[in-house]
Amino acid sequence: MDVLVIGAGVCGLTTGICLAEAGLSVTIRAAVPPERTTSVAAGAVWGMVRVGPPERGLSWARTGLEALCKLAAEPGTGVRMASGREVSRTPLEAYHWMELLPGLRPCEPSELPEGFTSGWHYTAPVATMPVYLDYLRARFERAGGTLEVAAVRSLAELAGVAPVVVNCSGVGARDLVPDPAVVPVRGQVVIAANPGLEEFYVNRDEEPPWITYMFPHGDTVLLGGTNEEGAWDEEPKPDIAERIVAQCSAIDPRLRGVTILGHRVGLRPSRPEVRLESEPLDGAVLWHNYGHGGAGVSLAWGCAAEIAAAILEGAGTG
Ligand SMILES: Cc1cc2nc3c(=O)[nH]c(=O)nc-3n(C[C@H](O)[C@H](O)[C@H](O)COP(=O)(O)OP(=O)(O)OC[C@H]3O[C@@H](n4cnc5c(N)ncnc54)[C@H](O)[C@@H]3O)c2cc1C
Repeated sequence: MDVLVIGAGVCGLTTGICLAEAGLSVTIRAAVPPERTTSVAAGAVWGMVRVGPPERGLSWARTGLEALCKLAAEPGTGVRMASGREVSRTPLEAYHWMELLPGLRPCEPSELPEGFTSGWHYTAPVATMPVYLDYLRARFERAGGTLEVAAVRSLAELAGVAPVVVNCSGVGARDLVPDPAVVPVRGQVVIAANPGLEEFYVNRDEEPPWITYMFPHGDTVLLGGTNEEGAWDEEPKPDIAERIVAQCSAIDPRLRGVTILGHRVGLRPSRPEVRLESEPLDGAVLWHNYGHGGAGVSLAWGCAAEIAAAILEGAGTG
């Protein structure tokens, strides 16, 4: 084995793909499989939310945008280009990362829900995460990669297993590294039958921990949500689900009485900055790739490409 990757969320799978497609022998070891990770709970639209550092982050996001736009043109990836709005009851500046989106424009007054005064309309890649994660896993395995479901109890136990280890453990990095800078930001969402929504919608005005958003995915719509800092509970809470549906229905009355199909909870791996750097590990090299907050789907290709390039060039491979 050339490389052991810890974690099978969007960051671990994408890193595994970049390394395996470059010809390296790669195993992913993950405590839980892709369909049970935080990644599966994401909305998931491209953007730089709750993540840093700003400049390196923007560069990873640019690479991610290019990669996701290409995947949107391929059938079966779970990624497509979608249009939608970010709206506010107060004047809303465009976020700096929105400048990468060619179709960005202010919302027409007629496009704003009642009571809202400003907003931005744009088109960006959106992933249906269960399908996208299946696609990534299959692509990794097609490139010769192996995925094993097993927890890594300590980084020290990996000495001698592979010359390079890449740590994509998400919020698990808090205990595994250990890195107290990693804090979970719990996000709960509701999956409902889609009553006809075609565009996504995000409103960041709500008082924390609330945020209101809707992401249509064909026959279903993902309704959110929460940003609960420091909360570790992965069980969906009925009272939160009820409030999410009520908030979304107040914006789009088509959602009143909607059929609920399921609930998802994810723990965003929040950190002041993504940790992407290497350090020695008992004669091997340990790369860290965690702390992607609310933007892991968007940054995964950029971070994976940077690590793969460094490993292939032999930089930091001991
Ligand atoms: C509700 C919600 C909405 C979101 N919306 C968006 C969005 O619109 N756009 C966007 O870009 N991002 C979004 N995000 C953020 C995004 O989902 C995360 O940044 C991303 O999923 C993090 O991926 P990851 O691979 O680092 O971690 P995870 O998906 O958490 O995967 C971590 C993996 O590491 C494994 N692991 C951990 N510890 C160990 C260990 N000790 N041993 C072995 N394996 C271990 C786990 O089992 C798992 O397989 C959202 C998140 C949530 C919760």
